[in-house]
Amino acid sequence: MSDQGSPPSPNSEERSTQERSPEERMLQLTGLGVSDGIAIGRAVCLDNRVGDIYRIPLPEESIDDELERFHLAAKQARQELGEVRQKVGEDLAQELGGILDAHILLLKDPALLNRVEAVIRGERVNAEWAIHRTTSELSKRFDMMEDEYLRERNQDLLDVGVYLLRVLQGIAHHELSEVEGDIILVAHDLTPSEAVRLGRGRVSGFAIESGGRTSHTTIIARSLKTPAVGGLEGITDEVTDEDPMIVDGRNGLVILHPTQETLDRYRREREAQARHEEVLMATRHLSAETLDHVPVELMANIDLPEELEDAIAFGAAGIGLYRSEFLYIEKDPEMPTEEEHLEIYRRLLQTVSPHPVIVRTYDLGGRKLARELLATEEQNPVLGLRGIRLTMARPEMFRVQLRALYRAAAHGDLRIMLPMISSVGEVRAFRRYATTILQELQEEGIEHNAEVPLGIMVEVPAAAQIADLLAREVDFFSIGTNDLIQYSLAVDRNNEHVADLYQPLHPAILRMLRFIIESAQKAEIEVGLCGEMAADARLAVMLLGLGLRRLSISPRLLPEVKTRLRGLTTSELTHLAQQCLTLSTADEVESSLDAFLQGAPVPSPVA
Ligand code: PEP
Ligand code: MG
Repeated sequence: MSDQGSPPSPNSEERSTQERSPEERMLQLTGLGVSDGIAIGRAVCLDNRVGDIYRIPLPEESIDDELERFHLAAKQARQELGEVRQKVGEDLAQELGGILDAHILLLKDPALLNRVEAVIRGERVNAEWAIHRTTSELSKRFDMMEDEYLRERNQDLLDVGVYLLRVLQGIAHHELSEVEGDIILVAHDLTPSEAVRLGRGRVSGFAIESGGRTSHTTIIARSLKTPAVGGLEGITDEVTDEDPMIVDGRNGLVILHPTQETLDRYRREREAQARHEEVLMATRHLSAETLDHVPVELMANIDLPEELEDAIAFGAAGIGLYRSEFLYIEKDPEMPTEEEHLEIYRRLLQTVSPHPVIVRTYDLGGRKLARELLATEEQNPVLGLRGIRLTMARPEMFRVQLRALYRAAAHGDLRIMLPMISSVGEVRAFRRYATTILQELQEEGIEHNAEVPLGIMVEVPAAAQIADLLAREVDFFSIGTNDLIQYSLAVDRNNEHVADLYQPLHPAILRMLRFIIESAQKAEIEVGLCGEMAADARLAVMLLGLGLRRLSISPRLLPEVKTRLRGLTTSELTHLAQQCLTLSTADEVESSLDAFLQGAPVPSPVA
């Protein structure tokens, strides 16, 4: 993250915030634009490293109650720890007894209690936030101490803080809905399910420390049209209170304390973007074909039901990827029932009929972790029990989904797709399992369709390498570049520190794509691509050159890709790709692509 605010005057550091001019207070932070759009609001900080802790401003009249709440929690914590201490006894586990004594002492220590009280009273905030603030401030000081004994007390302090927060969770707590006005959520990191919950709620923008463009959290931000900037290392320390701020998702900027002039400029920009979106909608009726009339199927990726409207509005030719795990993530910790699966699949089919709907079976695990489904903690969940591995390891969970899929297939062109396939054996194991499900439905006399096309995500390098073998086993491929790039280049798609190494145009990726596409073509099966690579109109050009004729992307990005491909011929696209395949580095490929695009003017969206 770089700071590019207006240059501070020489002595601005020493002057109080109030003394500084609005221009001096404004601070611009540069991160990674991960979800387009502009959000204007006030910051609410979320610390989810120890559960979700929000800073909730409280009215004056609630402060006494809040103080009582805090003291009640401290008392309860002392009692609980005291009981544990007694059970531990004197001589058994001496060390643990000592730690507990230290914790109980801290919970009585006026130095700690008074400080928390002062924050609640002085800042008029909830007890959780005051505890979090106080313990992290004290902890930083402990850390700097020379005395080893005192430095070691640091852990006690943090433990007591966490304990108090847990106790407070049992006492009526404050909700984000109490905050007035538009909220910009500032956080270290967000899980995909937090992003769903917050984005659907009152949050109008995200400013987060971690996250690359293809992380599931940022994919969700885009699905919910919530502007977001990621890779803002240190922003949670920078933003301490209800700072007014702007999130500029397109340019990857966050502006703290914007001046009136900046606010006005962004409001105008926001209106202009809304008007541009309407112009793009006009592409809905244009056919998706190249200049030489070769049709391209432009389909929609759907994560959440609210995106269905967009799929229609932007003229998607069906759903190329329904990430069904979000059905679970929304209901977490309960599993969706067979009827709930059926209902959503039928809705998808009805909405895009006569076009197809490709439903990907649960891709849980990895970062979309369903902890309660996993018996064990995984050291490295992205390489663990994820996708098809998890679903086959928990067949009872898969059974509900599969029954619903075969039942829904009786109502339209539904296709089943398996995530994270890395071997032919997995496909065969699935087919065996599916046979038992079909038999079950048959015996129960339940309406279903047994002739459902079966496809796989090609997103693990091993699958890419054996694409020719896999092509004999399935009806279609959908290339998942989000993971294929992550696993092939050994670059975590969520890690902002290596975001520049996440290179879709890396020669290794282009070669893999070519091999997968050729393998599908030779076996005469369908092949498409549903990773974020297809959603970037520049990169989509390369994909068409490599021979793809089906792309699936977030619905709102369809117009740009469609507009771009309408101005190009397949022969020039093929030539571009062939030439790029001879190059040695991603930079060289990028330059070639840029040179090509500069010579190929983009037609007007409404032409
Ligand atoms: C992919 O990996 O490219 C993909 C589309 O799946 P997901 O982003 O859900 O992992
Ligand atoms: Mg994937």
